Amino acid sequence: MDRVTAASQALKRLVDSPVSVMEVCGTHTVSIFRSGIRSLLPPELGLVSGPGCPVCVTDQGEIDCALSLLDRGAVVAAYGDMFRVPGESGSLASKRERGFDARVVTSAFDLLAMAEGDPVKEVVFLAVGFETTAPATAALLIEASRRGIRNLSVLSFHKRTPPALASLSADPGLRISGFLLPGHVSVILGHAPFSFLASDRGIPSVIAGFDPEQIVSGLVDIALQLHSGEAALHSVYGRAVRPEGNRRALELMDRVFESRDSCWRGLGPLAKSGLALRAEFSGFDAEKRFELKPEQGRTPPGCRCGDVLTGRITPHECPLFGSACTPASPTGPCMVSAEGTCGAYFKFSRRGGGPR
Ligand code: SF4
Repeated sequence: MDRVTAASQALKRLVDSPVSVMEVCGTHTVSIFRSGIRSLLPPELGLVSGPGCPVCVTDQGEIDCALSLLDRGAVVAAYGDMFRVPGESGSLASKRERGFDARVVTSAFDLLAMAEGDPVKEVVFLAVGFETTAPATAALLIEASRRGIRNLSVLSFHKRTPPALASLSADPGLRISGFLLPGHVSVILGHAPFSFLASDRGIPSVIAGFDPEQIVSGLVDIALQLHSGEAALHSVYGRAVRPEGNRRALELMDRVFESRDSCWRGLGPLAKSGLALRAEFSGFDAEKRFELKPEQGRTPPGCRCGDVLTGRITPHECPLFGSACTPASPTGPCMVSAEGTCGAYFKFSRRGGGPR
């Protein structure tokens, strides 16, 4: 018997009343679908997807800020998934088709050559994502500062994961029984920022990698904790996650960023859930340079991404799913990204809902 099958049998023995486990990371969501894990779980064990897709949680008002800079003649660069996310006046992709200078980058360091190659242009990096991408933005700014580049700035819409989990775990309407915590973010942050989930909120929490064995091991660990009535923070990600995290990445982030309030799609404004540039790097701050004030954006009519991102509904419960909203013509960001919950459901489970 392989480990996944053995673990699924253990889950069937352990889980005999309804429990709801949130897999926080979009990569977990995709791996769960791809591996067919849902079909091996007891019907009482529901999996709900969380706000772990960086493109999806970027508020529409933040996207509108980036679009407004194109209107003002700046070059706006972003990672590819951001390009098709709709804002009020289109998307970066549609604006590029209309002749605006929006560019896809695969690395934050691409911005250095872009800015140095065209010194009369203002080059702006739309920097989104969690603690996984923020260190690269920090390294970019340290290097840009060292080189004395003056036409480069960053719209820092990076998000911090722990405040989002604090919000979700305090929501009495969600009743999350356990958290499958994001592996990549935990590699950077280590254990401590997530320990409150078990110690303060009493919710079993397990850091897991992305292969099926690790995911079911994490679920068994959560089920064992629920069975015993004792919540703890564990890791089944082996040596990839050190309890202290990645010191080099943490130092980079700490040198360049400080926490600030930030607006999340689905969760709204959350205290200290974003990353702003420290005063030493304020010359690279696009919000200051262009006098921008991001405001909470309007959700596209009918789109229920906010409810999907907080596990309140599955994508099938959105009336636009698979009709007005498809990967080829997305209405909301959850259908755009490779890690978006709606995109994963569309690709892997169009006909069946699968257990919650
Ligand atoms: S199916 Fe489309 S419109 Fe509905 S919640 Fe998902 S992304 Fe938004």
